[in-house]
Amino acid sequence: MSNFFNTKIEFLKGVGPMRAELLQKELQIFTYGDLIQHYPFRYLDRTQFYKVSELDESMPYVQVRGRIRGKEVIGEGRKQRLAATLVDENGDQLELVWFKGVKWMQKSLKNHTDYIVFGKPTEFNGKFSMAHPELEELAEEKQTTAFLQPVYHTTEKLKAHRIDSKVIGKMMEMLLKVAVPNIQETLSPELIDTYRLTDKRSALINIHFPETVEKYNAAKFRLKFEELFYIQLRLFRQKVVRKADLKGQVFNQVPTLTEFYKNHLTFDLTNAQKRVVKEIYGDLTAGKQMNRLLQGDVGSGKTIVAFITMLIAADNGAQSVLMAPTEILADQHYVGLKKFADSLGINLGKLTGSTKARERKVLHEQLRSGDMKMIVGTHALLEDVVQFQNLGLCIVDEQHRFGVEQRSKLWRKNPRVIPHVLVMTATPIPRTLAMTLYGDLDVSVIDELPAGRKEIVTVHRFDSHRLRVFQFVRDQIKLGRQVYIVYPLIEESEQMENYKDLMDGYESVKRAFPEYEVSMVHGKMKPQDKDYEMQRFVKNETQIMVATTVIEVGVNVPNASVMIIESAERFGLSQLHQLRGRVGRGAEQSYCILMTGYKLSKDSKTRLETMVRTNNGFEIADIDLKLRGPGDLMGTQQSGVLDLLISDLAKDAPILQEARAAAQRVLHVDPQLEQPQNHNLRRHIQSLSANTVNWSRIS
Ligand code: ADP
Ligand code: MG
Repeated sequence: MSNFFNTKIEFLKGVGPMRAELLQKELQIFTYGDLIQHYPFRYLDRTQFYKVSELDESMPYVQVRGRIRGKEVIGEGRKQRLAATLVDENGDQLELVWFKGVKWMQKSLKNHTDYIVFGKPTEFNGKFSMAHPELEELAEEKQTTAFLQPVYHTTEKLKAHRIDSKVIGKMMEMLLKVAVPNIQETLSPELIDTYRLTDKRSALINIHFPETVEKYNAAKFRLKFEELFYIQLRLFRQKVVRKADLKGQVFNQVPTLTEFYKNHLTFDLTNAQKRVVKEIYGDLTAGKQMNRLLQGDVGSGKTIVAFITMLIAADNGAQSVLMAPTEILADQHYVGLKKFADSLGINLGKLTGSTKARERKVLHEQLRSGDMKMIVGTHALLEDVVQFQNLGLCIVDEQHRFGVEQRSKLWRKNPRVIPHVLVMTATPIPRTLAMTLYGDLDVSVIDELPAGRKEIVTVHRFDSHRLRVFQFVRDQIKLGRQVYIVYPLIEESEQMENYKDLMDGYESVKRAFPEYEVSMVHGKMKPQDKDYEMQRFVKNETQIMVATTVIEVGVNVPNASVMIIESAERFGLSQLHQLRGRVGRGAEQSYCILMTGYKLSKDSKTRLETMVRTNNGFEIADIDLKLRGPGDLMGTQQSGVLDLLISDLAKDAPILQEARAAAQRVLHVDPQLEQPQNHNLRRHIQSLSANTVNWSRIS
């Protein structure tokens, strides 16, 4: 956008320095451009009201009109709440409840006055109520110009300073008045034509103050398309730049790999593993740097693919690292791969936080001289003292546990030619999301489990059936198996009281199974204590492991065949699936038991039913995306790419696909965006990059 949109927000009429500071702090609105892109998150449809008698618990959010008839504060201290009664024109009652800001509401809510309330209806004993509804006093002279009235996101602090949605609406009106002549088109005439998009000016006006339903829909489509188009365009450009610039070592010799296949690999690769190895080999022989994401459900056999890739590197005189997020995982990789490496005469080492100084020195030495061809480890690998003779391949396991910065530290360890990169994840990322997040990565998928693996049997049991569940556990342990029991935990909180469930659980499990040994691990334990407990379980010295979600990632105890998840309704779907993946790793039939109380929300029921119905991680990820929205998905929180202003990846997959194809086509014809018809694109991409720099002001 032009310079006009870089104008500081304080200069807008009616804003000024005080409000500007609040807008910056609370909503990151610095400029006119930021404000105009503060799109409404929903609209009040002034034509659509529900009667209380029409309400139904399955309705998401509804608008009801009525008169306040009485309000009272109930309860004491922290339990205090304000309850008010709204009566609609039929005389039916709706209870309104506030648990927070009780005093303020008590003062400002006017008795015997007409209001429009907006919120989610819930039913109890045949009566409907609404917690923390949005309120609007129904002024009589209200004229209804716009058919949809914008509702803007604000914060408690802004509201306390009288900057509510309506005030933001006023600012927006003011801004649009001066802004309209300055709005420049940001898409090319060709795109507008091909996709029948409305122009930018009309889009911005109608997204804030829709003139008609049609114009509103056109505005929404246009802005979503634009947003997704530019994400894809920028990712593709990075990729084009990379591919052109980044040469990679060519790895086309495979003598040791052939030997490995013939004499050491004890099982057949699955077809999916074979396909992925082929894709990787294609990259390694192409003369360009590999930058590939390998997705595969838990237990799909990613480690062996990693090792095969490392073997190819070694066969061509290059060194490789395999980095894991935890010490336990690094150990497992090391133990699993060491025997292969030894039998092939390859020097494979391990470097973690607990590697002794003396051993470290030897490792550093051998890496620098090139004697050591492969190394497995944790963050310790990132330290500057770790240098290589010729690092040719970096593999990162469970990549979402590492930040981008950390990872790139690894690939800078070869100053001459950037190493090939393979990142692996067991968090299945739905296709739409992967396309957006990793548009600059190539993606491989292992979508098949090794043969003979038995499907994990998953059941849902209520807490009242615990005795029977425990009897089942006893039977399994008698057969020689081991059992996990997982408790939910609010991880961010430092308070010990949150461990109460876990501690109570631990005590009751010990009481219930006096004849067996019980381990416990949780996030607040010292690493060495955690490791010690974990090792006891790995060695089968303990039969039951009571834990929080710290065991979620990667740990492999093939003899563990039962996973019990307590208060399962409190876990997200992806997390439940990850936890379930801790069992079913051996030859025995495995079980996952989801324990809950009787009271379950609709979403919780959907999650539990999904778990019981399917073991397919991709299907689960798709449902999770629909239930929670993309922002919550594991590993995507810090991506930045997902700070979408208007698009919703869960719903806008078709638009994303079109935008992606469009971006590909544009760059195919005009990679540098030099042609006149792409002038708008070039200009906008430059302003987007400039803005990215500006964002640093915030931190
Ligand atoms: P993940 O993809 O979760 O990292 P792993 O690589 O740990 O899975 O593999 C899980 C188990 O499956 C390991 O014990 C591994 O040796 C075994 N495995 C891998 N590939 C195959 C295969 N093709 N056939 C049989 N077992 C396999
Ligand atoms: Mg793994």
